Amino acid sequence: MSSCRSCGAPIRWVKVAGTGRSMPLDPDPVPGGNVWLLADGTAEIHAVGDPTAIRHVSHFATCPNANQHRRTR
Ligand SMILES: [Zn+2]
Repeated sequence: MSSCRSCGAPIRWVKVAGTGRSMPLDPDPVPGGNVWLLADGTAEIHAVGDPTAIRHVSHFATCPNANQHRRTR
């Protein structure tokens, strides 16, 4: 577990399947989230689908300082 550099919230880095890129997730699952955490620890992004999947949201979607992420990346 690590924490967001701009707001200090706990985040979990996961690899997005197929892209090799990492993305920060809020660590708690969220009903209706669009990021699915797979059993092998990678993530896939789906808007809809299996209702039993464990779903999360990107920390970029919930970070109160998301604008700073965009400015510094
Ligand atoms: Zn943050």
